Amino acid sequence: MTQSISISRIHYPIHSLGFGTRVGVWFQGCQIQCPGCVSRDTWAAGTDPISLDQLTQTLAPWTAQADGLTISGGEPFDQPDAVAALVDWWRTKNVGDVLLFSGYSAEVLWTRHSDIVSKLDVLISDPYDAKQPQTQPLRGSDNQRMNLLTPLAAERYASLDDSPALDLCFDDDTVWIAGIPKPNAMAEIRKRLAAMGFAAGTSDQLLDGVRG
Ligand code: SF4
Repeated sequence: MTQSISISRIHYPIHSLGFGTRVGVWFQGCQIQCPGCVSRDTWAAGTDPISLDQLTQTLAPWTAQADGLTISGGEPFDQPDAVAALVDWWRTKNVGDVLLFSGYSAEVLWTRHSDIVSKLDVLISDPYDAKQPQTQPLRGSDNQRMNLLTPLAAERYASLDDSPALDLCFDDDTVWIAGIPKPNAMAEIRKRLAAMGFAAGTSDQLLDGVRG
């Protein structure tokens, strides 16, 4: 595969962003730029592109045991060819579900990228809205929709509980949190870490030079 792709992060295992134990791929670059997004570090496009071959070589050892693939960002559909190639490759390796988070509406995505959407099991659609409450599983704000596109998706996600789980991920000398924090959760985590002598912040705070 010669397709290049800008990636913010990859990680295995991830438990907070879908059914079971998952491979997580976070795309780099987001044109939507929702006010209040906690992933501002993923907005800049085109940073450090790698080949899809490089990406899939890293993911390959995890495919046998994973329950599925979660694609997030950033905005995956800002790199539609890369999403398509990644999903096609995953389908040759794993029969689990593919869940994708996008800030575009489902209607826009079905119009522009039906070839890709039709290969997903779950599409979490619509932009984050900081003014909305957050009470639904796998959604940062309640305007976002969980589109269950296949029988496997219905089986796994129709009665998903509203677990507040977050993943604590260790990559070399970096510790980061994956998942969808409840309102004020990050402030509480910062407070507890500060009490233990550690500094922490969301990516928007770190970009602004503010530490917790
Ligand atoms: S919430 Fe998602 S779509 Fe919205 S700005 Fe952040 S990364 Fe982009």
